Amino acid sequence: MIDSYLPEMPPVPDPLLPPASLRLTVVREALAANWRALDTLSGSAAAGAAVKADCYGLGTDTCVPVLRDAGCRTFFVAHWSEVAAVARHVPADQIAVLHGVLSEADCAYARHIGAIPVINSREQAMLWQSTGGGRCHLMVDTGINRLGIAPSQAHDPVIQALAIDILLSHLASADERTAMNRMQAELFAEAAAAIPHQRLSLANSAGIALGESFAFDLTRPGLALYGGIPRPELDGHIRPVVRVEAQILQCRDLAPGEAVGYNATFIAPTHMRVGTVSIGYADGFLRSRGPGNAFGHQGRALPLLGRVSMDMVVVDLAAAPEAVAGTWVDVPWNIADAAQQNALTAYEMLTVIGRRLKNG
Ligand SMILES: *Cc1c(COP(=O)(O)O)cnc(C)c1O
Repeated sequence: MIDSYLPEMPPVPDPLLPPASLRLTVVREALAANWRALDTLSGSAAAGAAVKADCYGLGTDTCVPVLRDAGCRTFFVAHWSEVAAVARHVPADQIAVLHGVLSEADCAYARHIGAIPVINSREQAMLWQSTGGGRCHLMVDTGINRLGIAPSQAHDPVIQALAIDILLSHLASADERTAMNRMQAELFAEAAAAIPHQRLSLANSAGIALGESFAFDLTRPGLALYGGIPRPELDGHIRPVVRVEAQILQCRDLAPGEAVGYNATFIAPTHMRVGTVSIGYADGFLRSRGPGNAFGHQGRALPLLGRVSMDMVVVDLAAAPEAVAGTWVDVPWNIADAAQQNALTAYEMLTVIGRRLKNG
């Protein structure tokens, strides 16, 4: 049944469709290098990859083949709806579904497509067994209190009867220096002693930086693959992966006293040349990243003026007098640089990337 499954093909692009006025470039060599660096930092453990949420917004079809070719053999998604896109590129049984099974339909789909559920509760375990059982993963909660069985349920016969490949837990505060990390690792080791399993997995990106005693058999980096640096120990190992550019749609001359954008929050103090750039909050350049920030052109800063609109933002062209309609400008998306994040975390800066930008 699994062998006969034919994954859906992506839609064929229209050859007459002109190039988009904004684009996201994933630096594939950097993504591959980041996976290899995290695999090395994982010591004797192998690195997997969190590829949920369309590879944190960077595109499954772009990123998963790169991770596969770099050597990754275990891929984590959250939803069953995310499996088929990943399974176009890797064997389905290398895909683990973190939300587990809520219904018989989930179980039937798991067996149809061949991806492996992460069982999160005694109820999920009973459902999986009653619909036929078979290979699964198991999440044990060691303190984050989101998903997973309690350590006290380890000896439950329903749990003991599962055919568990990966036994996992998830760190709540791996990006902080806190005693909770060690406590979670100890609880996890106790659960591992009580529950039969093939492989053990605890560390996310920040957890890898905590050292080899957190790595067990398999690590699950996400953010750091895509260029995020959740702990200083990863500095120097992780390369930026994302480059975002957008075109100027129109240049305009402002007279002193003229306003820019919704609610006229910027008033020109003097004559100014400005450019309207083809990116907005619908693309993931959220309004919180407007005030005080700048786009770039050949290393020069183009300060943002007024509110970020849904599809546009206006920049000061004083530093780029040669810019015209059609000129590409750099939109800062360096998620390792906290100063650029303002009210957004690196995780949010990636996962809000909009469809138009991804497809550009
Ligand atoms: C998202 C996720 C990861 C990856 O975490 P990062 O902090 O992005 O490295 C690992 N494990 C689980 C269970 C997750 O949900």
